[in-house]
Amino acid sequence: MKTMKVVRLLAPGNLKMMDMPRPVPGPHQVLCKVKRVGVCGTDYSIYTGEASFVKSGAVHFPMTLGHEWSGTVAELGPDVAQFKVGDRVVGDTGVGCGYCTDCMLGQWPKCTKMQAVGTVFAWDGGYAEYVLMPERHLFHLPDAVSFDNGALVEPSATALYSVKKAQVQIGDTVLVQGSGPIGILAARLAKLSGASKVAITGRKDSKLKTAVDMGIDGAINTQRESLLDGVRRIFGAPKVDRIIEASGSTELFRESFGLIKSGGALSVVAFYDKPLKEFDIDQFVFSDIIMAAVPGSLGMFPPVLNLMASGMLDATKIVTERAPLAKVTELLPKLKENADQRIKILLELE
Ligand SMILES: [Zn+2]
Ligand SMILES: [Zn+2]
Repeated sequence: MKTMKVVRLLAPGNLKMMDMPRPVPGPHQVLCKVKRVGVCGTDYSIYTGEASFVKSGAVHFPMTLGHEWSGTVAELGPDVAQFKVGDRVVGDTGVGCGYCTDCMLGQWPKCTKMQAVGTVFAWDGGYAEYVLMPERHLFHLPDAVSFDNGALVEPSATALYSVKKAQVQIGDTVLVQGSGPIGILAARLAKLSGASKVAITGRKDSKLKTAVDMGIDGAINTQRESLLDGVRRIFGAPKVDRIIEASGSTELFRESFGLIKSGGALSVVAFYDKPLKEFDIDQFVFSDIIMAAVPGSLGMFPPVLNLMASGMLDATKIVTERAPLAKVTELLPKLKENADQRIKILLELE
């Protein structure tokens, strides 16, 4: 039996590198060799057990993390039609049953048997030498898109969904809350969507600088300036058309409602891990805004791959650190320490 190296999460707090049998692809399945895998804040919340969906029992242990990966096709199961050995690929974030009506309509997140890759219900992810995927959940990586950018398709796709759900239109003013990977990518994608001005909020100057270097118009360091002062300074007005909430801060979520013009929209793409204690529903109703939830990236891989292939989106600017796979057992437990400069860690495999 062939084996592979896997970084396995046996239980919250117990992450170990080990050898496991290499999966054998069944009908319509593809075994992929992982080249790059991104380390996500969600991975950290699963590792610590703090994520709401770990507490509710939706993550089944042992499991393999890693939902942001790129690689090549290593082995084909019977009847695979769309891929051949050596093809460069990226994988979807979830696997549906493939047979129910929702799966047939492409709405696999609604599938009652859905398994998310490396997160909820744990389809084994990319913290491993190989990942097994049904071919219906694989995408070809265009020649012009590097493996680095390939591993950043998933966060870019989630960011794009947040921009679409905020209904960003040409000429709009947009505020993005939070300067993590999703926030920075959402700000960039809001610009690409035609926003006239985009500002980003955060607490670390180096991360805000990365966003500005990617073409974002203004930055608000909320350690030094109030949100309202920052919005007035950058937009010359107290309110904006759209806000994308990617900070995970319940305070910024609450404050966002007072900063959106009547008829505008708020999209929420972060996880909060704790419920909001008090929410002024009347303020929300009077605001005449739309609030939209962004749980993932459904349908956004193809446009993101197109933007990357055309050179309009280079997500690698958010990569602040690279390490071999084995090192993640040290890096993940300390993800929140010394995180002032850190935006995205990419793990590199041979
Ligand atoms: Zn992620
Ligand atoms: Zn299904």
